[in-house]
Amino acid sequence: MCLALGLVSPILGETFTFPTANKFLLTPEREADFFTATSGKPWSSGTYGCVRSEGWQLHEGLDIKCLERDDRGEPIDPVMASAEGFVEYANRNPALSNYGNYVILKHRIDGLEVFSLYAHLSLVCEDLAKGDLIRKGDVIGIMGRTSNTQESISLARAHVHFEVALQLNERFPEWHEKNFPDQRNDHDRWNGQNFIGVDPSVLLRASPQAGMEFSLRRYLRGQTELCRVLVLETDFPWLRQYTRLIRRNPVSDAEGVAGYELALNFAGLPFELIPRAPSEIDFGERVQLLTVNKAEKDANPCGRILNQEEGKWRLTNKGMRLIDLLTY
Ligand SMILES: [Zn+2]
Repeated sequence: MCLALGLVSPILGETFTFPTANKFLLTPEREADFFTATSGKPWSSGTYGCVRSEGWQLHEGLDIKCLERDDRGEPIDPVMASAEGFVEYANRNPALSNYGNYVILKHRIDGLEVFSLYAHLSLVCEDLAKGDLIRKGDVIGIMGRTSNTQESISLARAHVHFEVALQLNERFPEWHEKNFPDQRNDHDRWNGQNFIGVDPSVLLRASPQAGMEFSLRRYLRGQTELCRVLVLETDFPWLRQYTRLIRRNPVSDAEGVAGYELALNFAGLPFELIPRAPSEIDFGERVQLLTVNKAEKDANPCGRILNQEEGKWRLTNKGMRLIDLLTY
């Protein structure tokens, strides 16, 4: 099954392609044939975003429906690399993750390091190893229902969980060990907590048929802002990994940098970073919440990185943890 189908000749403007043969996302009114819903809920519960628990729970990827089954009804859709990249991680011990068997590929697109993740596989291709170059369309595994959650994925809900994400900090294992010494981390820096997903359906819809040149950087920079946070730090991994998200500031160019202002989206993705000069900031707390977009907080509450106490906005413990990991 694990043969390279390798769709070569990358098309201008194309970034990611569908990880299975299911492309119903592109057919109007056929969303229910593309997304796998959670039980008793509409297809939208299989999309990315604040789509679960009445909007309070984030689903960080797409649950893409199975098209092919064997005699026992088990899913057998080949799962393919959504873009050219390198194998970053393959978990072949499904008991160790709610993702079950999963693969992470690393891509460089539009000058940005971005990862794709394929979860609940029944099988990860045997010869797949860290560092392998994978072309778009190469088969990396077979759709399945693996997961270590108490409630298993039913036959009816067979799907691949597909994410496109940015990595918060390559030093995640050290950060985790320091902050959660009693908790296991079985997946090194490929722990789900270390990734922040964006909506893959936007990337999949930006297909070459649309005739437009898609820019991942433009897409990221165009996220709706939930809040702005100032951190009095001048060197952390995100700055080096996502240099293209930094906006130039003539004042800090002239005076030097004393900290960074981060624009975060509802999920906590730092999609724009502005260096700030000493004359532009208040030297106080190491992490300062500067502004809040309440309309976005109301529209997408599931990131849970902010709350309001006695009329005053503050970062939640989750929000503080995110900034701490980002700047560790
Ligand atoms: Zn999912």
